[in-house]
Amino acid sequence: MNATASETGLAEPHLAEVLAAVGLDVEYVRAEGNTLYRLDEDQREVPVLDFVGGFGSLILGHNHPEIVAFAQDLLRSRLPIHAQFSRAPHANRLAAALNSVLSRELGDDERYFAIFANSGAEAVEAAVKHAEFDRMLKVAALSEEINDHVARIRTLVRDGLVVPAAGAHERFGDADRSGDPVRDIEELIARVDRWNAPRLSRAPLFLAPEGAFHGKLVGSVQLTHNEAFRTPFKALAAQARFVPLDQPEAIRKTIDAERTVLLDLAVEDGTVTVVERDFPVFCAFVLEPIQGEGGINVVSREFAEAVRKACDAIDCPVVVDEIQSGMGRSGAFLASSLIGLRGDYYTLAKSLGGGVAKTSVALIRESRYRKEFELVHSSTFAKDGFSSLVALKVLELLEADDGRLYRVVEERGRSLRAMLDAVRAEFPDILKDVRGAGLMLGVEFQDQSGSTAATIQGLSRSGFLGYAVAGYLLRGHGVRLFPTGSAANTLRLEPSAGLTDAEIAQLEAALKDVCAVLRDQDEGRFMAS
Ligand code: PMP
Repeated sequence: MNATASETGLAEPHLAEVLAAVGLDVEYVRAEGNTLYRLDEDQREVPVLDFVGGFGSLILGHNHPEIVAFAQDLLRSRLPIHAQFSRAPHANRLAAALNSVLSRELGDDERYFAIFANSGAEAVEAAVKHAEFDRMLKVAALSEEINDHVARIRTLVRDGLVVPAAGAHERFGDADRSGDPVRDIEELIARVDRWNAPRLSRAPLFLAPEGAFHGKLVGSVQLTHNEAFRTPFKALAAQARFVPLDQPEAIRKTIDAERTVLLDLAVEDGTVTVVERDFPVFCAFVLEPIQGEGGINVVSREFAEAVRKACDAIDCPVVVDEIQSGMGRSGAFLASSLIGLRGDYYTLAKSLGGGVAKTSVALIRESRYRKEFELVHSSTFAKDGFSSLVALKVLELLEADDGRLYRVVEERGRSLRAMLDAVRAEFPDILKDVRGAGLMLGVEFQDQSGSTAATIQGLSRSGFLGYAVAGYLLRGHGVRLFPTGSAANTLRLEPSAGLTDAEIAQLEAALKDVCAVLRDQDEGRFMAS
């Protein structure tokens, strides 16, 4: 299983070493359905049952035969793949197909415009970039309105029709050092300008729940809660305020703590007064309906309602990141539809490409859409003919027979979960929790940092227990599992809809074995390669 030094090579060799330390440095040579194949010493294929499912990108499994045949036909037909800045009929058809699925599932027919991208993080970045474009246009409109009021009032004062109110200066409070009464309208205007200028150029903030994961690019990593991923790059992009998932009431408080007002002039009862105008500090609330990398946490209906209410109150868009939870993985096309969450933006990626293409999309509700964005955002690879057509084929497979696949995911998910619950009931000292929806499930292991076995204790304390469990399951049982990105004690299970009872049984035997080894604190067996 171990790679030689030359194979380790130059493509992230340190990561390869880390994988090797827990026995996860395997080369796979073929893949089909839920199975990956590696070669043994005699160059014979050895099957590995894959519960990682491309980290959520394989709801149809590895190399789904219809997708592969379709992709081969496309390539044979010499379809134009890279023809940026021409009409994009395939991307248009895909956007229309996505709209009809959304409209069916959301129960209304407001249109969503599509900005295509190439990876999950890129779709998130396109969404938040659009949200910032929208926010800046709103800020510009607000600033222009204030300037109009100021100009109009300056004329009224000059014409002797109104005078500044005696207490007008009181609005500036302690924050403005020149809190003395104003002498004339020009001084009042200067103080308003002095107040507004720094606030107008204030950096925006995002809102996201604790545990959020939205990617690792410059902007999206600031929406990703994991400190190790986020904090080294803090200086590069706008920041998020994170709210605990189990405290819906914290959303309002977080918003209130950042409230910023601009000052405007108005005429009230013949005098000029200073009035407050709310400044749009928050660019967007970004959330996953089921957190993936945060440990498979299903967002409650109550939290989702609180997000919608708080965001509506300040006209802040809600970006629902369905990159991992969407495309049928939860048993519905959008996991957010299961908790009644309505987004202004949706992001999709992973399974959208059917395990063959790399594609993603940010869908933006018509009432929030700024068409000028299309002229300032693009990518060489986005919207290409090949991935658009493959994604259309994926939608066709998901939606076939009145959405049979969603029901299959739900039923398969129930069977998988029943097995996991039963193993947990047998090993409550080893398995802490089982959670998720459809075929997006997580198994959380109990903390073992108090273990009497030094190796197990050390692995647990350094946050590597989940990886060591994954290594054990791979070596001993030919089953591939991985912890979630930010909650290393939780193993993710995201197999394809083609999951069989025999595959569930294989996982059951493997899990029971590792639970027994951990219960016995048998570090010799646990670490044996
Ligand atoms: N959002 C979510 C919810 C994700 O799960 C992920 C990937 N795990 C991303 C964004 C980033 O996607 P990518 O790795 O394709 O950039």
